[in-house]
Amino acid sequence: MKLAVLSREPSNYSSQRLVEAAEKRGHEIRIVDTLRCYMSIVAHRPSIHYMGEPLEDMDAIIPRIGSSITFYGTAVVRQFEMMGTHTLNSSLSISRSRDKLRSMQMLARKGIGLPITGFAHSPDEVPDLIQMVGGAPLVVKLLEGTQGIGVVLCETRQAAESVIEAFLGLDTNILVQEYIKEAGGADIRCFVVGDKVVAAIKRQAAPGEFRSNLHRGGSAAVVKITPEERKTAVRAAKIMGLQVAGVDILRSNHGPVVMEVNSSPGLEGIEMATGKDVAGMVIEHLIKEIGEKPKRVEG
Ligand code: ADP
Ligand code: MG
Repeated sequence: MKLAVLSREPSNYSSQRLVEAAEKRGHEIRIVDTLRCYMSIVAHRPSIHYMGEPLEDMDAIIPRIGSSITFYGTAVVRQFEMMGTHTLNSSLSISRSRDKLRSMQMLARKGIGLPITGFAHSPDEVPDLIQMVGGAPLVVKLLEGTQGIGVVLCETRQAAESVIEAFLGLDTNILVQEYIKEAGGADIRCFVVGDKVVAAIKRQAAPGEFRSNLHRGGSAAVVKITPEERKTAVRAAKIMGLQVAGVDILRSNHGPVVMEVNSSPGLEGIEMATGKDVAGMVIEHLIKEIGEKPKRVEG
């Protein structure tokens, strides 16, 4: 098969592992810089060019779209879809999961456990917003944050009010969430491929920190997940429409709650901690999917 990884970072661990895993299985694979793709939007012959050449005979693409380029990146994926190229994760599923408000609404509607969460932009009554999600302690998040930046734990109602008011001054969307204290600074990353969790790790925050992000000094270890957690992760990925997803779960005393569903989950942390060939499982799933997809008939 002829495959392409859409990534801005050809030398990062995940990109390299996907290339290695595909080549090992006899496939041709290249890394394409998403932002350097340019496209012609015409009714009958949509095309994508890259470095002066058409990218036209790919069997499938593996989108790894960073959150800073979601808009252009999903347009490139959509263009491949219009050309009939198979994509590991669809443009629609990537857009959905990137929008935290939309994805939480979709998950809630399907009955997935979530932390009690409020969204706001310019509330007139901050105390009422705080009351709505059950009061302090709570976590306030900037909707656009990543790697734990813009995630603040407010222990008291006064602290929560001040933080929310400060964020409101920034004219941004915020999320106000029940603090899952019993998670003890840990979350579970479930790596979903198709309808299975193929690997899971527990990320534990550094002492004195509640955010478990590896970028914030968290550490990762292999974890055995419960059947309920497994089911929740698989269902969450399915609701988003993602074939490959990193589903982040907190262990709350009202069961597993989903914090986030990531459409380009990193491979390094999970492969290192579990010793599993996750990249290989991704490639094998993709190849199986291409085989099962009915050939598109032009005309
Ligand atoms: P980011 O997208 O920046 O990683 P997250 O929403 O994933 O932001 O939050 C970062 C970390 O903070 C999580 O991995 C988790 O450890 C912790 N955290 C986030 N929300 C909560 C919450 N409601 N209760 C307890 N811990 C939380
Ligand atoms: Mg996170």
